[in-house]
Formats: sequence, structure tokens, C-alpha cells
Amino acid sequence: MIYLDYAANTPVCEEVLQNFCDVSRKYIANPNSPHQLGRLAEDCLNNASKTISEILNVKPDEIIYTSGATESNNLAVKGIAQQYKKYGRHIITTYMEHSSVIGAVTSLQNQGFEVDYVDVNPDGLVDLDELKELLREDTILVSVCYVDSEVGIRQQIERIGELLAGHPHCFFHVDGTQAVGKIPVSLTNIDLFSFAPHKFYGTNGCGVLVKKEPVLLEPLIHGGVSTTPFRSGTPALALIASAEKALSLAADGILERYEYVEKLNSHLRDALKQYPKIHINSTKCSVPYILNFSIEGAKSEDFQAMLSENSIYVSTKSACCAANTVSRPVFAITKNKKAALSTLRISLSHLTTSEEIEKFLDCFSLCYKKLVKQG
Ligand code: PLP
Repeated sequence: MIYLDYAANTPVCEEVLQNFCDVSRKYIANPNSPHQLGRLAEDCLNNASKTISEILNVKPDEIIYTSGATESNNLAVKGIAQQYKKYGRHIITTYMEHSSVIGAVTSLQNQGFEVDYVDVNPDGLVDLDELKELLREDTILVSVCYVDSEVGIRQQIERIGELLAGHPHCFFHVDGTQAVGKIPVSLTNIDLFSFAPHKFYGTNGCGVLVKKEPVLLEPLIHGGVSTTPFRSGTPALALIASAEKALSLAADGILERYEYVEKLNSHLRDALKQYPKIHINSTKCSVPYILNFSIEGAKSEDFQAMLSENSIYVSTKSACCAANTVSRPVFAITKNKKAALSTLRISLSHLTTSEEIEKFLDCFSLCYKKLVKQG
């Protein structure tokens, strides 16, 4: 089996899983309970938040736990819109966003909010001049992903944050789901930041939303004050503790892992460039963890299926996208509808070996001969 779909989900790390089991066994009480066992559980939660906040350089109270990045994105986008609609109803986002951001802004659009999509340049970077032009007195939210899930473009988040710093009623949300654990992130000038540990060898079912202290949010989930008034419910302590473990482990090896994956990516790119009908969509601004390309004259779903028959697992787009639809990020970059309809996404990990890449390339060559019209 060769797994090349790490952007969709990662296998949970043994140490993280062990930590999950240990915490589940050790703490039986609700961290919100005022008795002694509850206090112990609360201490465990506070320790996890302290470490996470130190790694991200934010305050422990700025961390909200959710069920995943989809919920974090929805809470950020809808929570800001409902809380601050008195200042305006204009939102700016990009075509690079995950469906959980696009879905949230579309739902707001249906409720009368106005949404503008800022374009990207051929490298996939948000056009900062266009963003400046789109900003208005009544813009209350700009939402841009740190790294997108399909092409892997790393946006100029710090520059966008600086640009927005002069707009006190406009909040900046960043979806960091494909960035955390892979590249060092800076949360300066960011008001809200989402991510989920299952993208970096943590457990599924947990997400994080960092919400800077002065920012308020209308909650999505009501039901009493938990560790935060912005998200009710009993905190999932073992998931939270394992999120901290996964983040600590990822932060420790972040540069070594990046350099290793960069070498795999460059070998893969060089090999794929030899095929005349392949167009690589990932640009020089993409992180090496994601390599996206289009196959002219073939259906990428057929490639995915044939690779899968050979126990090689890749994506066509992001796992949450509907089949047979254009890839929004690829269309935004290439402006080519055919290319955006025939994308394959290979996503790599420090766990990927050179042998796996060779086997993938051998199998890919057979698929290419069979599935691509020659001539
Ligand atoms: N945002 C990005 C950029 C993603 O890649 C994903 C998952 O693929 C999500 C949000 C949604 O994450 P989750 O599956 O944790 O809800």
C-alpha cells in the first residue's frame, strides 16, 4: 500500500495514540465540574492549552476547541459576521479556500451579506492591490488560507495582516489547516486562526480555533459556559491532550521534515515534467507537501481509480470536493477550465519513502500509457 493522500488525513502517531489512551483512562471527570476530580481534568486541559499557546505564540485563553477545522472555520466566519454585522455586511475571501470557508460565506451571502472573491496571480498568490481595492468601510471579514489544500500555495499572510491592521472593524481569519505542523506559522495581525491535528498525525474529531482576546464571536453551538463561552459542550479532554502531543512532535521536527519532503517533491516534479500531457499546477509558492497537476485528454478520476486498484492512494481534489467539478484553486491560477477538471493531487509526508515514490512513478507510467490518448 502506498498512501499519498496526507493532505486529506494522516495516520495517527503511536505516541499520540498512547497519550490519548492514557488521558482517557486517567481522567474520568468533566473538566467543567467544580469537584476535585473535575479540577484535575481541568489542569490537564489547561496544561495542553498552555503548550499549544506557547508553540503558536498566543495566550492560553485564546484557544477554543472544536470538532475539526470545518467547525473552526464555520465558527470564525459566521461568528464574526453575526457579531459585527452592525459595522457592515461585506466579506472578502479567495477561490483558494476549503469548502468549509466557501460554504460558510455562501450561507451568509444567502442571508444578505455581500461577498467578494479576491483574485490570485499566476503564482497563486492573493493579488494585494486588488485586495486593497476591494476593502470597504463596511468590510468586516477577510478570510484567506495560509496554505490551500489543493495546490499547496503558501499565501503572504503577514503582508495581508499588515494591510488589514489599518482597518479596525475588519477581522482577519486565516485557515491554517494545511500549514500547521508543516511550516512555522506566525499569528501576528491575525484575529482568528483555524486548524485540526488530524492533518499532522493527531487524532480525528478535534479542531482548534485561535481567537485573539479582544475579538468577540456569536457562538454556533449554545449550551452554557464551558472552558469558553464561545463553544459549549464538555471538552474532549483526551482529544485535546493528544492535539497538544501531536503539535509538540510536529513542531520539534518541522524543518527537517520540510527539507526531506522538499527532496521527494523535486524528484517527483522532475519525473512528471517528462510527460508531454502533464501540466504541473503547483507553483514556486507551493509547499512541497502538495503536488498538483492536470492530465490533458484524460479523466483524473480514472487515474485515481487505476492507481487505487494497484493500492496507491491519491486525490483528485480536496477530499471534501464533489466529484467531476472544477478545482476552484486550479482554475483561479490557470484560468483553464479543462486543466481545472482533470487534476490529481499527490500529498507527501516525512513518512513517504523514496521507494514509494519510485513505485508510484512506475505505476503512473502504466496508467498514463493506458489512459492518455497518445499523439
Ligand atoms: N481547511 C483546509 C485547508 C483543509 O484542508 C481541510 C481538510 O481537508 C479543512 C479545512 C477541514 O478540516 P476538517 O476535516 O478537520 O473539518
